[in-house]
Amino acid sequence: MAKYKVELDVEQCTGCAACNASCPDSFDMIEDDKGTPKAKVKTPDIDDLGCCMDAAQVCPVNCIHITDTVENKKLI
Ligand code: SF4
Repeated sequence: MAKYKVELDVEQCTGCAACNASCPDSFDMIEDDKGTPKAKVKTPDIDDLGCCMDAAQVCPVNCIHITDTVENKKLI
């Protein structure tokens, strides 16, 4: 099992692209079936947080969540 899980609440995502700007290695911008821009986590299960925490912290609606799966603890 990977050490961290990165999740994104698509319903809350406003499509502002701040996460993608902050951490393009881990967040893509896509369009949903209505053509609304939304962020997408490239790799949800990771061993190295990289810039994911930065992206989660810049999200204006706090819809990016990271869990430490080893400690079973929600980090953000
Ligand atoms: S920063 Fe948050 S609201 Fe903006 S695109 Fe990323 S996940 Fe969506």
